[in-house]
Amino acid sequence: MSVLTLVKLSYFVAATLFLLGLQRMASPKTARSGIQWAGVGMLLATFATFFLPGMHNLALMAVAIVLGVALNWVWGRKVAITDMPQMVALFNGMGGGSAAAIGAMELVRWSAAGRADSRVAAVLAVVGALIGAVSLTGSVIAWAKLDGRMDKRYTFPGQQWFNALVAVAAVVCGAMALHTLALPWIVAFFVLALALGALMTLPIGGADMPVVISLYNAFTGLAVAFEGYVLGIDALIIAGTMVGAAGLLLTRLMAKAMNRSVKSVLFSNFGGTAGGGQAIAGSMKPIEAADAAAMMAYAERVVIVPGYGMAVAQAQHKIWELAQRLIARGVKVKFAIHPVAGRMPGHMNVLLAEAGVPYDLIADMDDINPEFPNTDVALVIGANDVVNPVAKTDPSSPIYGMPILDVVSAKNVIVIKRGKGTGFAGIENALFYADNTRMLYGDGAEMANALVSELKALDGGH
Ligand code: NDP
Repeated sequence: MSVLTLVKLSYFVAATLFLLGLQRMASPKTARSGIQWAGVGMLLATFATFFLPGMHNLALMAVAIVLGVALNWVWGRKVAITDMPQMVALFNGMGGGSAAAIGAMELVRWSAAGRADSRVAAVLAVVGALIGAVSLTGSVIAWAKLDGRMDKRYTFPGQQWFNALVAVAAVVCGAMALHTLALPWIVAFFVLALALGALMTLPIGGADMPVVISLYNAFTGLAVAFEGYVLGIDALIIAGTMVGAAGLLLTRLMAKAMNRSVKSVLFSNFGGTAGGGQAIAGSMKPIEAADAAAMMAYAERVVIVPGYGMAVAQAQHKIWELAQRLIARGVKVKFAIHPVAGRMPGHMNVLLAEAGVPYDLIADMDDINPEFPNTDVALVIGANDVVNPVAKTDPSSPIYGMPILDVVSAKNVIVIKRGKGTGFAGIENALFYADNTRMLYGDGAEMANALVSELKALDGGH
């Protein structure tokens, strides 16, 4: 068997592992092993690539891999779970950047040679480079926003038209680069493509961010697949196509969860409406841990609604302990998860799974919403935007139209948060001012702990 056949065979095995890994990621029970299967596939594909006939710069490749692995090993071990979304955004951007870099290198090589390898390869190199460059700078801006290093929404008059102009200019320069293979066109094309990613992401504020992050993920996959064709590496084509397809499906799901069409996110309503919405009447009414615990202890049904603040406080273990105490008293407890709660898709599912909450106690938004009117106490811990009723009542609100968990229709609501801080969208929450809501001020973990202690006292110290 020739070396090339062996390499191709390895790519086939790797692709099978990617597929099986992805399939295993569909359930929280098998997701961890799914990551491992896909990781082994990636290792195999990377290793096999060294043996592709005609491969040069093997030492440089090895150094790059060692450096990348070492840096990410350290970073991956150190990163706080709440900073994970930023890290994912950056890694995603790096993938897009790598695809764009492949496109750039090939275009420059063809420019020097005076001709491209093939017409199809040239077109795909340019298209892949455009998508990859947009994904790189777009993801970097998303990282800066998620990391709190940049204002969430940055707008200026005529922004949409300006962005459209830059997009058209990038496409024209790309076409000219393709046609002439002249360096000035290639450089102009990359400058514009990189600028486009940043410009597209700058105006995105509260509501559309999750959709955009997952869209850039899909972009990166597509860019990698296109550049895989340019390099003639099957593993890149397969892995890129899978990331692209999975990313597009996720984007559609996220868009549906935000009640936005992907088209409107892309072309019309980037960032949603400007402005902070109407003023909210009423006042926030505090409650003590002892009273909150008693309310839950004597309730028939309690629904726990976690949000980003639970991740910040790392309160998932204490909250599960609290739920177990309530269940032991005969209270019916469920957890309600909004699709964009937290800062990444599935963020709350991951935290609850880590704490050991059984999957049958966890309900999705559509299933739990009709149950809130029959819920005695809804305990909101660190969730804000995803339970804000203005999304239904105030057309001038930036989150208007986003489906929310109908917590406000529960008989009683207890909200754990540290103070008057707003959520990701930066707006006031009408739930906190509602007649049936009481605020339990404090850090999520400390308050969950206090509630557990109070319940313990009610149970006679056991
Ligand atoms: P939010 O970000 O809306 O609100 C979090 C709340 O938690 C804050 O109001 C804060 O109030 C409170 N909080 C913070 N730290 C603590 C703590 N230590 N203890 C207790 N409370 C704390 O969270 P949601 O989950 O409701 O909404 C997610 C938002 O993020 C949505 O707007 C969504 O669009 C956006 N988003 C989601 C992504 C995803 O993929 N899931 C990706 C990007 C953005 P205080 O400071 O007063 O404590």
